[in-house]
Amino acid sequence: MNTTPLLPNFLAGRWQDGHGHAATLHDPVLGTPLVRVSSAGLDLAEGFAFARERGGAALRALSYGQRAALLGAVVKVLQANRDAYYDIATRNCGTVKNDSAVDIDGGIFTLGYYAKQGESLGDARYLLDGERIRMGKDPLFQTQHILSPTRGVALFINAFNFPSWGLWEKAAPALLSGVPVIIKPATATAWLTQRMVKDVIDAGVLPVGALSVVCGSSAGLMDQLQPFDVVSFTGSAQTAGLIRSHPAVAEDSVRCNIEADSLNSALLDPAATEGSEAFTLLVKEVVREMTVKSGQKCTAIRRIIVPLELFDAAAQAISAQLAQVTVGNPRSEGVRMGALVSMEQKHSVQHGIAELLHEAELLFDGSEVALVDADPATSACMAPTLLGHRDPGQATVLHEVEVFGPVATLMAYEDEDEAFELIRRGQGSLVVSLYSEDPAFIARAASELADCHGRVHAISPDVATSQTGHGNVMPMSLHGGPGRAGGGEELGGLRALGFYHRRSAVQASSAALDMLSSPSAAFGVTP
Ligand code: NAP
Repeated sequence: MNTTPLLPNFLAGRWQDGHGHAATLHDPVLGTPLVRVSSAGLDLAEGFAFARERGGAALRALSYGQRAALLGAVVKVLQANRDAYYDIATRNCGTVKNDSAVDIDGGIFTLGYYAKQGESLGDARYLLDGERIRMGKDPLFQTQHILSPTRGVALFINAFNFPSWGLWEKAAPALLSGVPVIIKPATATAWLTQRMVKDVIDAGVLPVGALSVVCGSSAGLMDQLQPFDVVSFTGSAQTAGLIRSHPAVAEDSVRCNIEADSLNSALLDPAATEGSEAFTLLVKEVVREMTVKSGQKCTAIRRIIVPLELFDAAAQAISAQLAQVTVGNPRSEGVRMGALVSMEQKHSVQHGIAELLHEAELLFDGSEVALVDADPATSACMAPTLLGHRDPGQATVLHEVEVFGPVATLMAYEDEDEAFELIRRGQGSLVVSLYSEDPAFIARAASELADCHGRVHAISPDVATSQTGHGNVMPMSLHGGPGRAGGGEELGGLRALGFYHRRSAVQASSAALDMLSSPSAAFGVTP
């Protein structure tokens, strides 16, 4: 008999064990089994109908302000259980405390932000989109666009790297909009998501059916979607392709948001010199991005674009700082970077480095670094690796393959136009960061690169201590990116509510539109 605990799913308003095959989650450092998950045998149709009908109706009966208060109550529940989340993250995600915080506290912060934002929408039950517009000569007949919460469920299929933040950054705007949530976390790290949902359900702070969790296989989930449901996916481009081509999306117009992989860049101003403030800020940020969560961040810097004459200096400065990073068991004193999420992920990163090395030179070799309290053969710990290319315009793979770990490639450019062109070779990314002391360069580069990035993050000496980090996703700023980044949009303050609302034009007399505009409506969203 298998003694590893089986985590129950919460669906149709009750806790349910899956039957049949269960996947085992492991400690990526020690290799020990932790818990098992299974969605086999669940009545998904019943669960989706329950969420849609019971959860949706209960949420829609509330105003935005009341739902914002629910988010505030969820924040309190999660804060009360933070220690348990850190423990799970150390054991299942292999992260050191600071990296667990990015996920756990980042998720709670995002929820809290939407609780505050939602308050400002007060008693409203739908949103006005823009001003009234006259339809013709008659000034009394006008059109008013409104946004109404969709009467379906929001299915979230999430990636392994953010089991907490990945849930709450999506659930906060969905619940605030009045749309019930069914979360399917990535199997490798499903424990933390399941535990957080369990705490919220046990606390009874949300209406029954507002939040459900299905752990284990995704089989059959997409088949449940109906035209007014929405699906939000975060994960690899390959799985994203399956989601996009599913009949629910392709034929029934189920609204779909995709956050996929991305070859994000960091660009150093051509006017920078060795040791200048911009140079120093770039080096610091690159090292941070390569090592936070062992580089398992969709926003992490993968390509570092520097002037050719600074290539060697940048290689040396980054390598020197990478050499200081202690890697190993996250429980051990002094360890700054923990493990990758699984042995499978480690092998995938090793394979990816080998692929990039067909084009790149090796500037800092992580495989030579000794691990702290972790067996290099059996743990998923892996030190950072810096690659380089002096003529990256000639490279292909370096602009195409995302290695989802502590790996980045330094690239040289000769002039500004070439730098912009290299960055565009990523075919659409989540974020680019700029390092410069010149506001004019920042403005020029931002306007040049904004169309192919969801976010442009400029780091100059005046914001060196206040800037929020290249890879940190803040709820008030847009997250997502065009092209290979998936084409999705999340967060961005109240803009996020747009995905969970339907826009409709109401054409009527001024008297009717007066009734429509007050008191049930609120302005405030520009989706
Ligand atoms: P993945 O393998 O694509 O898995 C993502 C999710 O899809 C998991 O929950 C997975 O479940 C599920 N899934 C797998 N096959 C499916 C199918 N046929 N139908 C429906 N769902 C299916 O991605 P991952 O390895 O977890 O995540 C790493 C990738 O995510 C990286 O490429 C990274 O860049 C990207 N990412 C992007 C963002 C962003 O915001 N843009 C954020 C984080 C990560 P199982 O785990 O059970 O297989």
